[in-house]
Amino acid sequence: MNNNPTSDSTPADANRIPVKDITPVKVHQPEKKSAASSKNHIYVRQVKGRIENFRQLFGGFFIFLFAAIPWIPYEGQQAILFDIMEQRFHIFGLTLWPQDLTLLAVIFMIGAYALFFITSFAGRVWCGFMCPQTTFTYIYIWFEHKIEGPHNKRMKLDERDMDLDKFLRKFAKHFCWLAVALLTSLTFVGYFTPVSELFVNFFTFQASGLAVLGVLFFTFCTYGNAGWMREIMCTHICPYARFQSVMFDADTLMVAYDEKRGESRGPRSRKMSQEKLKEKGLGDCIDCNMCVQVCPTGIDIRNGLQYECINCGACIDACNGVMDKMNYPKGLINFTSEHALQGKKVHILRPKIIGYAVVLVLMTALLAVQIMIRVPLEVDIIRDRGSLYRETSEGLVENVYTLKILNKHQDEQFYTINVEGMPGAKFIGQQTVTVKGAELETIPVSIAVNPYDIEGRITEINFRVTNEDGSIEVLEPSKFLYR
Ligand code: SF4
Ligand code: SF4
Repeated sequence: MNNNPTSDSTPADANRIPVKDITPVKVHQPEKKSAASSKNHIYVRQVKGRIENFRQLFGGFFIFLFAAIPWIPYEGQQAILFDIMEQRFHIFGLTLWPQDLTLLAVIFMIGAYALFFITSFAGRVWCGFMCPQTTFTYIYIWFEHKIEGPHNKRMKLDERDMDLDKFLRKFAKHFCWLAVALLTSLTFVGYFTPVSELFVNFFTFQASGLAVLGVLFFTFCTYGNAGWMREIMCTHICPYARFQSVMFDADTLMVAYDEKRGESRGPRSRKMSQEKLKEKGLGDCIDCNMCVQVCPTGIDIRNGLQYECINCGACIDACNGVMDKMNYPKGLINFTSEHALQGKKVHILRPKIIGYAVVLVLMTALLAVQIMIRVPLEVDIIRDRGSLYRETSEGLVENVYTLKILNKHQDEQFYTINVEGMPGAKFIGQQTVTVKGAELETIPVSIAVNPYDIEGRITEINFRVTNEDGSIEVLEPSKFLYR
């Protein structure tokens, strides 16, 4: 395809938009002996630099949080426990029930808007620095590097026929990968079932079938995703990678190569003078391919913005190292924006960012209000559907109800039940009840009334349930039927 209209181009050619071929070139893949071998495997070169240090620190912090949170106790039980079997989520003092679905929906929406906000502002930083897939992939690559050696040694090892050394290295690597996957999976499942019991029961073969199945499933997922799938997850499976480009604009931060400064690329002596470089038409890129060799998704950032790029910044560190050695200024590859690259004004506050920020603040305020006004008690009244009413031997008219009292508090509560709206009504049944923290109590009760006090076929009544100090109270309406 003709990229540049030349002097003998036709007017139609001159109007064509120049097309640039940016097919990713995965140069650090070894030659494979057979088509059946893992020809798409990427041998990531280790990189050192400020961004890498920051990612390790950041990733380490989140891994620590992930591992530590299930072990934090609160008022005698696991502070954060998503108890799916019992259909309740404990988050410190807060217990969420299926009835609190709106609260959970708001929490998820806050998470989603926070992600949109961050992505609009700083591009795919979630992918590069916080996503568990990236963090675990880097942990797995670290084991690979320690056991099998640097990327070129790993390539040679894979090309070599199996021998004892290769077998032992592969065995040790997969053993470490599986150990990390198992510990990760146990920790993850520990968010859904008491973690200390899970660890003990799992290693003493006393865990339930469901818990074992969960642990094995997530072990397999971690091992498969971080060990084998790696960049395939980011480039072909992760849905977030697909739609996040709609949040991008010309001011969004992204990892980009400064083409104006770098091109034309080419090798040169470190001592070559600026005049000589200019004479040869060389830019600052020495075409060393270091940026490609460290890329976990195997792309060449010099080909422009690509959906495979997870903004991890490894190529920035690699290129800065090269620039240092060449005595050139750093930043040939950098976190920048399209506008910054074009020398245009960069807008930090833009309508999209402000919009996401406003929604985020409103949602957070809504969540705070919902939590503040939430009554940690729920009462359900079910009328006996078997009979509308019955007459007692004392000549009273009686209606039967089932009261379901749900204590959403973490502590045990003592409740008193009263009926209102029917003068002279007699409460038959348990009028006081103790309900354990996060438990449901079912109580059958009857209301009996002198038929001469009943004014119509249907009388609106209320059940008032109050805790001991009167700080928690629920008024639940029901009906009293006669004839
Ligand atoms: S690391 Fe820098 S100098 Fe080397 S090829 Fe990449 S952009 Fe060019
Ligand atoms: S191009 Fe650079 S920032 Fe993008 S994924 Fe590769 S190494 Fe990371």
